[in-house]
Amino acid sequence: MSVFAVTSFAPGQPVAVLTTQPLDRFLDYRAPEGGVRLGDFVEVPLGPRKVLGCVWGEAEGDFPVEKLRPITRVLDVPPMRDELREFLVRAADYTLTPLSLMLFLATRAPGLFSGPQMIRVYRPGEPPARLTEARRRVLDVFEGYGGAALTVGEITRAADVTGSVVHTMAAQGALIEAEAPKDQPYPLLDPSLPSKTLSDDQAAAAEVLKSRADAFGVTLLKGVTGSGKTEVYLEAVAECLRKGRQALVLLPEIGLTEGFLERVEARFGQRPGEWHSGATMTERRRLWRMAGEGRVQLVVGARSALFLPYRDLGLIVIDEEHDGSYKQDEGVLYNARDMAVLRASLAQAQVVLASATPSLESWANAQSGKYQRLDLHARFGVAELPEMRALDLRGQKLPHGRWISEGLKAAVDERLANKEQSLLFLNRRGYAPVTTCRACGHQIACSQCDARMVEHRFLNRLMCHQCGATAPIPTACPDCKTEGSMHPIGPGVERLEEETRATWPEARVAVLSSDLFGSARALKEQIASIAGGEADIVIGTQLVAKGHNFPLLTLVGVIDADLGLHGGDLRAAERTFQLIRQVAGRAGRHDKPGLALLQTHQPDHPVIQAILSGDDEGFWRAEAAEREALGMPPYGRLAGIILSSSSLEQAFDLGNHLAMNADPLLAIGAQIFGPAPAPIARVRGRHRVRLLIKAAKGAPLQAAIRQWLAGIKPPGDTRLAVDIDPQNFW
Ligand code: ADP
Ligand code: ZN
Ligand code: ZN
Repeated sequence: MSVFAVTSFAPGQPVAVLTTQPLDRFLDYRAPEGGVRLGDFVEVPLGPRKVLGCVWGEAEGDFPVEKLRPITRVLDVPPMRDELREFLVRAADYTLTPLSLMLFLATRAPGLFSGPQMIRVYRPGEPPARLTEARRRVLDVFEGYGGAALTVGEITRAADVTGSVVHTMAAQGALIEAEAPKDQPYPLLDPSLPSKTLSDDQAAAAEVLKSRADAFGVTLLKGVTGSGKTEVYLEAVAECLRKGRQALVLLPEIGLTEGFLERVEARFGQRPGEWHSGATMTERRRLWRMAGEGRVQLVVGARSALFLPYRDLGLIVIDEEHDGSYKQDEGVLYNARDMAVLRASLAQAQVVLASATPSLESWANAQSGKYQRLDLHARFGVAELPEMRALDLRGQKLPHGRWISEGLKAAVDERLANKEQSLLFLNRRGYAPVTTCRACGHQIACSQCDARMVEHRFLNRLMCHQCGATAPIPTACPDCKTEGSMHPIGPGVERLEEETRATWPEARVAVLSSDLFGSARALKEQIASIAGGEADIVIGTQLVAKGHNFPLLTLVGVIDADLGLHGGDLRAAERTFQLIRQVAGRAGRHDKPGLALLQTHQPDHPVIQAILSGDDEGFWRAEAAEREALGMPPYGRLAGIILSSSSLEQAFDLGNHLAMNADPLLAIGAQIFGPAPAPIARVRGRHRVRLLIKAAKGAPLQAAIRQWLAGIKPPGDTRLAVDIDPQNFW
């Protein structure tokens, strides 16, 4: 149903409505008084309830019109545009997801039903009798907004005055009070404000991006951390705004957003719209509406911002495009990077993928000429890439429970003496990954999952990293009951913190691990205080690898560079490479040179070698050759089938049945592996069984899977999920 002849329906005419309910079909309703347009968002009765829907076309059923229930309400928002409708259809096809779930993703703004609400706003009135400094600032703010009406909150924030200044001005007639719809347009961004003075490299890249504006095309913008990619793509944003189109910048993580918003404000004079899980309901509703009305020019957000009803999307930037968080692992399994390219192709929009360590997929697409590629070669200004060295642990025997080698210790000592910061990186949360009994060897496992419990001293609990279950730390072995026999094995960040504090009792130590912060705000504050120099040694998990800017940091010590080399996972090498490169990129971003030390037992491993030599291209070529030889992505295609069930037997029976009856897959030359217990075979008490399908690059994989699964009804509480292009193999 992608080509629509009819675009409006007279009252009483039957229409097909797509609802957000998990049904695999359209429902027919009668157009209400006043009629409806194609794409109108509507409220329809379903059983005793009212649900959200979207008018999708002419009715399909042969149900007599008189018996159809009428649409109860047409929402006061622009109808869904063809471009978004087409995107939802294609995304549903690609990910093998019901279209209703796609509509759900595209309408995740609370309060769409409630209609516009009114709020109190102000605009300038008579010139004030006495123009104090504060009052002048207030009037200047209106100037900046082109005279638009503003709320008290907006005025006080922008003018840095108290609410009573506003109220006094209103009482004296210097401001005029009025009612306005609650969802105000976003303040105008001004692309003509000056950018930073770009380096030659940056300016050339910005020119290329500008020349590609206003048409579909994908550019991989590759440059080491700190090379100024952000400044470059902000110029692409500026060009998009000049053309009067909307821009979207996707970021991988909330912790990054604040710094980025400030840079937007510095460049364009105002803040953009923000879309992420931390945004309030009111903000989400406002942004959803304004995106549709074309009254927000730039949206900065997490992956789901891709599903907003933009009026005219002209640019999508995906910063840190390699980041794993772009793949949604629950619910609708989609990769925001790939879906962004799809949406852009439908919207005639430009895509910019920015990264210091691109995914192999994007690297290969650039190699083959499908994507354009732009490289920023040097770091901005004087900052140089850090020197990298391996610390070979093979000859060294570190004392029990210690992870910092002599070489690393000496380097930290030196930084402390020079009042510079050091970062110790270990990608393991908690105190120790394993807690075991000295007497009988018993290890504590989660009762619900196939995973060990990880000791968290900070919480004083054991925690399962799969399901989040916690339990008290026992003093006696649960198995042999020996008192005081339980002891930790291996390092976690908390244990590393203990060692660090013992080694350098005078140093100020800060730990950055996602589970240590109650809120995104607390995390942001910690990051800001570290950047401000309020720590000598920072201990961090992969959280620190993500683009934060720590000016005083000149040393990065990777505690266990081998971690992740043996995942048995297709992407283990790629991930390790990216992560260590990113972390090392934290060192020496400003005028002091940086040093990165990698503690390893395998200094000759090709991945470690590629990191040390700084030969990125060499790494990608080697990795690409290996994948190509194996027919693995991006040179072949994979799909995962995950069966989860409270009954292991049912899951396996269904898995076997699917594996034995796979003619549609065999017909396209695909191979089927499994069923096998998933690497994490049990989560939250449910067993997990996997099948893996491998096909040639051009094979019609989705169509074959659809045919294969048609008519399959998982028994009992068994659930079946399809993961196209899986990133994780858990
Ligand atoms: P990347 O996105 O590649 O990591 P950024 O754009 O964040 O790099 O730039 C790194 C640092 O250098 C930032 O603090 C940024 O403000 C600064 N910077 C980059 N380009 C310029 C420029 N042309 N003029 C002044 N400062 C710049
Ligand atoms: Zn025991
Ligand atoms: Zn668990």
